[in-house]
Parts: sequence; C-alpha cells; structure tokens
Amino acid sequence: MSTPVIAQEVNGIIPAGSKTPTIMPVVVVVPKELAPGEQRVATVPEVVQKLTKSGYEVRIEHDAGTSAYYPDDLFIAAGAKIMSNRADLLKGARIVLRVQPPTVADVDQLAEGTIVIGFMNPTNNLEAITRMCDRKITAFALEFVPRITRAQSMDALSSQATAGGYVAVIMGADSCPKFLPMLTTAAGTIRPATVLILGAGVAGLMAIATAKRLGAIVEAYDVRRAAGEQVRSLGAKFLELEINAEGQGGYARELTPEEKAQEQQMVSTAVARADIVITTAAIPGRKAPLLIPKETVATMRPGAVIVDLAAETGGNCELTQAGKTVREYGVTIIGLQNLPARVPFHSSQMYAKNLQSFLTLLVDKDGALVSEFTDEILVASILVHAGMVRHGPTRDFLSGGKP
Ligand code: NAD
Repeated sequence: MSTPVIAQEVNGIIPAGSKTPTIMPVVVVVPKELAPGEQRVATVPEVVQKLTKSGYEVRIEHDAGTSAYYPDDLFIAAGAKIMSNRADLLKGARIVLRVQPPTVADVDQLAEGTIVIGFMNPTNNLEAITRMCDRKITAFALEFVPRITRAQSMDALSSQATAGGYVAVIMGADSCPKFLPMLTTAAGTIRPATVLILGAGVAGLMAIATAKRLGAIVEAYDVRRAAGEQVRSLGAKFLELEINAEGQGGYARELTPEEKAQEQQMVSTAVARADIVITTAAIPGRKAPLLIPKETVATMRPGAVIVDLAAETGGNCELTQAGKTVREYGVTIIGLQNLPARVPFHSSQMYAKNLQSFLTLLVDKDGALVSEFTDEILVASILVHAGMVRHGPTRDFLSGGKP
C-alpha cells in the first residue's frame, strides 16, 4: 500500500500560495485513556511499527501505554512521536484511536472532519455524541462492526470478550476457597471444583476453556442450542433444555414466559451444585436476562462464587451490584466491570490489531483516505458523520425513544 495521504478534496487544506494540492501523511493519534480503571491503550508498538511503515504518522500521548506495560520508549522505537500536551495532540489529529468513548472536553479539541474510532457506548454518551455532531466529527463505533467473516479481524467485541471470559475465571478461582483441579496427595484426595458457565458466547467459551485448563468440572448453558456443540468440543457438559431460542444473526431471541420458567428451574439446580458460576448471558440492546434470583443464591454452597459479566447491563444475578464485590448467604458475588482492563497488555494488543484492521477500510488502493464510507462494515459502524447521527437506534434514543 502506498503512503496514506490526505488528498486536497478530502480535507480541503492547501497552504497559502501553493498551486499544487498538499499531500501529507495521515496523522493517527492515540490519547491516554482517562476513564477510571481503564488500563488499556488503543495501540501497541507492534501495530505502530506497521502503521508507520505504511506511511501513517503516529502520535501517542505521553504515558498512554504505561498502565498496559507499553512504555513511551517502545512507541518511540516503533516510529511514533510522543506528545506531552493532550490538546495539541488532539488538535493535530486526522484520525483518533481510542478504547473508551471520547469526552465532551476531548471532542472540543478536535478539528472539523476528524475521524474518531473506538467503543462509543452511545446510550451512555449522548452529550459527547451531540457534540461530535455539532463539531462535524466522524465517529465509528466498534461495537457496531457486523459479525461477518470479513470483519472478524476487526471484531473488538469478541477480542475483549475473550479477555473478559479469561479474567472472570481467574477472579472466580481467586475468591473460591477450594482447589479447582482434582488432587491425589498423601494428605488425601481432593475432588475437583464444579464451574458453571451461563451464556456460551465468546466470553463464555473462553471461560469454559480457562476453567477446563485449571482442572475443574465444567458445565455450561446457553439458550442457543447451536452453542452445545462448541461447549462439548471444549470438553464441558452442555445443559440441555427443549428450547431453541436462536434469533437473527446468531444472537439469542427473548424467551416466552413458559420457556423462562423451565430454564429457571434447570439453571437453579445447576447453580446450587456449582462452586463457581460465571454468567455472561446478554441480549444485544436489552437489559441482561435474570438467571439467578436471590432465592437461588440462598441455595448455593457457602464459599461459592458468582462472577457476573453482565453486571454492566443489569446483571444475570439479582444480587449483583455493578462495580462491587458483595457477599450474600455466604456467596461471593463479583460484579466488577471492565474485566478486559485487568489484562491490559494482551487486551490492548488484541484491540490494537482490531483497529489496525479497521483502518484498512478507510484508505483506498492508492493509500488516500476514502471520502465516502460505502463499505458495509463502515456503513454499519458509523455513528456520527457530517453533523448527523447515522446510527438509527441512537438517533431515536436522542430524540426521546428507546435505544
Ligand atoms: P452476547 O454477549 O450477546 O451474549 C452472550 C451469550 O449469552 C450468547 O451466547 C447468548 O446466546 C447467551 N444468552 C442470552 N440469553 C441467555 C439466557 N437467558 N440464558 C443463557 N444464555 C443466554 O454474545 P456474543 O458472545 O457476542 O456472541 C453471540 C453470537 O455471535 C455467538 O453465536 C457467537 O459465536 C457469534 N459470533 C460470531 C462472530 C462471527 O461470525 N464473526 C463473531 C463473534 C461472535
């Protein structure tokens, strides 16, 4: 690929007195993530090296990678420029790569036409979205990248869910008073712990694989029957119910009240015998389904642990408190959020590769920034452009409707 350039017609910049269009490398900037508890960074030195080799100019805010264990000197060695002034960094950006959504204060520093790429969490960031509209910023929301084969390398939801599933098991094991593997020792034989995974999507499958590696007996349940094959292929037992709730696009549909009652009974029995329960059940755009009411928690063994990955969207357990670890009926219930940030080195590495891949959609075969976003992945993930909210549900939500 030739050097990515800003062509005259794209950003309209021609220095005074110049007769020929200015050809400048595209400036990609990476600010330090400032959200509380966020340890990740949107790019890593390995990716910077590839971007600079492709002709981008990469500028990184001082200390942006420190909490993910990518110090400034590694970014410099990879060809990036370190900037200590955040306002100057943002002002000079053509493309901004982020993990968390931009704040209003950051948006106010950006020049018109700047492209911002990252998780946008639109329903919780309406003010920043409105401001991006006002300032004619273009924003791409990685959570809307379609789950099509061509977009797999850009699927940041999956890469971060993988990290979350891993961390959930490690945290569960850390809080559990038992060994996970079976042990045969001179001091007696220890029975393996039972780990139950509710929701066998990307995070759930990673949790199953991790719990298996730690030697636990692993059971899993998902409303999508298709998940059963994947669960069994990881060596875990799939809890079967005579329901098939696979909806459009591989996601789950909502269950009928009768189906919910049957599911509840089977899940409750499995929860009661588990030492660690990892819950990951989600329905996109809706509140998380309630799978563990407090009456079920009361039937669990003392010392059992629930790690609720759905804490952010209301929790799969009734007693989950988002952002907290609580103990009820002798059961530890972990509702901590943003688990991928607890393995920031690798979650940043995976995220950075997702972004590197996404960037290839924004330049044409000559290396110029595309002026029209016609690729289906860009169409699906564009949130704000040219003063308008392009994502229908967010637009409806902004005008008072439901997301
Ligand atoms: P998700 O985070 O939306 O939900 C997690 C899991 O919870 C899902 O498997 C869902 O079926 C399950 N669930 C919902 N309600 C439940 C309930 N009441 N009880 C038990 N489980 C319940 O899902 P995800 O991890 O983002 O993945 C969703 C699907 O998309 C999966 O089939 C996954 O394999 C697929 N996927 C495809 C691609 C691709 O083709 N590129 C990429 C990623 C994921």
